[in-house]
Amino acid sequence: MPEEVKSKNFIENIIDKDLEEGKVSKIVTRFPPEPNGYLHIGHAKSILLNSGIAAEYGGQFNLRFDDTNPTKEKEEFVDSIIEDVKWLGADFRGEVLYASNYFDQMYEAAVKLIKKGKAYVDDLTAEEIRQYRGTLTEPGKNSPYRDRSVEENLELFEAMKDGQFEDGSKVLRAKIDMASPNINMRDPVIYRIARMTHHNTGDKWLIYPMYDFAHPIEDAIEGVTHSLCTLEFEDHRPLYNWVVEELEYPNPPQQIEFSKLYLTNVVTGKRYIKKLVEDGVVDGWDDPRLVSLAALRRRGFTPESIKSFMELAGISKSQGSCDYAMLEYCIREDLKPKAPRYMGVLKPVKLIIDNYPEGQTEEFEIENNSDDPEAGMRKITFSRELYIEADDFMEEPPRKYFRLFPGNEVRLKGAYFVKCTGFEKDAEGNVTEVHCTYDPETRSGSGFEGRKVKGTIHWVNAADAIDAEVRLYENLIDEEKGKLNEDGTLNFNPNSLEVVNAKLEAASAELKPGDHVQYIRNGYFVVDIKDSTAEKMVFNRVVGLKSSYKPAQ
Ligand code: ATP
Ligand code: MG
Repeated sequence: MPEEVKSKNFIENIIDKDLEEGKVSKIVTRFPPEPNGYLHIGHAKSILLNSGIAAEYGGQFNLRFDDTNPTKEKEEFVDSIIEDVKWLGADFRGEVLYASNYFDQMYEAAVKLIKKGKAYVDDLTAEEIRQYRGTLTEPGKNSPYRDRSVEENLELFEAMKDGQFEDGSKVLRAKIDMASPNINMRDPVIYRIARMTHHNTGDKWLIYPMYDFAHPIEDAIEGVTHSLCTLEFEDHRPLYNWVVEELEYPNPPQQIEFSKLYLTNVVTGKRYIKKLVEDGVVDGWDDPRLVSLAALRRRGFTPESIKSFMELAGISKSQGSCDYAMLEYCIREDLKPKAPRYMGVLKPVKLIIDNYPEGQTEEFEIENNSDDPEAGMRKITFSRELYIEADDFMEEPPRKYFRLFPGNEVRLKGAYFVKCTGFEKDAEGNVTEVHCTYDPETRSGSGFEGRKVKGTIHWVNAADAIDAEVRLYENLIDEEKGKLNEDGTLNFNPNSLEVVNAKLEAASAELKPGDHVQYIRNGYFVVDIKDSTAEKMVFNRVVGLKSSYKPAQ
């Protein structure tokens, strides 16, 4: 077999060059979430990229909360983010860092800029600052406060810190260039006054640094070598560089942008997910129809499947959506050798074998997973009354229907051939039971070589099948009909959740929350980690068995 050569992405190429030129020695990366929501699949791309690079180069990966904006932050999110990063297997050495622990150093950094004549206190209102900023085509205007002396600026900034001014009445701005073609460089605000209680620093601070000022300082303090972020920060890079240069950090970090991950048919983006949760469209942040990591975990996706998905998706600077089917492909590939294959009937109808002795039970041995010989065998029981899928019987079948219909014979998986002899219906015309006879000669494993049948269906023994709630999911958004309605609202798929009362093979009772199983012909399932109990098991369908995605090659 030829050795597989994994081609490097553009970020790895940059790092290789930096190492070669001796610009860096130990690689340090970070994932900097704002604790204002749950992480989603897009964040997983960033986490796996950053932690993967650190691991590949024998470097260090930091988990650092970007908690400089206390209005939107919540402790609840901190905990869930840590759990998600751990779940993905990203190694942050159990050490959780907080940008808010650097507030003193950020304050000192601002003072340093003032002393260098590179920052000033401005009394313009927010609205005036906006007006003075100019537009993409017109340069901005200098603030009348731009030329305050260093002494006056130092005094005013200290007074801002000490609470001598109202919220919003003054700001500290970097003194760069009001005529810069890049609006981010037109004297950006770097500190504001805001009397807010911070989850980490409490009421210590009345002034808070702005993201564009704080972020490069956080990176520099931690010795981050490559600060990987998404493309919307490309225009902020000159400011990032300005901050680390003016503050004269000896080994300044380097910002590199890559494109965000988007998925078809799902809602990514913290803001949008938050809205779905708040509007009650879904049942919480971990509703299995969402692509928050908590939801994907609950839906039954594994960290391995998410990793292989990110490898297929790749890292680049070009924007585009990945097909949700690719993620489904990855979870199928992961579960194929791992999940036992049981029988489970999602929409049951009774099948009565009229010539099978009443009160008799027999056992069959069947393999747990035909793709994994190590998985061994298990026993299933068989008796006169079984359940089969309502879909596996038709009173008047169309052509090419090879399952049960009056007069037709099928194989019951792992057991006998049965021939349909009749059925019963209720007043509404629903089939309530199907009758058949079995042929004792056709016992599975007996070496029966007689006639062939075209259809094989699954079944469970009515006597020992367990009842379970099974949740069947479809995409939340129906992109085939267009992602948005005419009024700009999202076009929801009304069938995104169907709940059925299933009859499952007895072995299912041994499964624990989070365990995976394939119910043959029906797909891969997971025992719900939130709602399943020993008395009433709840399963989520992770994915069906048929794939619409084929990997390249
Ligand atoms: P959202 O865009 O969903 O509101 P965010 O960017 O505001 O998320 P942060 O907590 O600031 O959320 O993100 C932390 C890191 O995750 C950032 O470095 C950000 O660039 C990265 N990130 C966010 N969304 C994606 C995505 N879809 N693909 C890759 N990386 C992402
Ligand atoms: Mg953000």
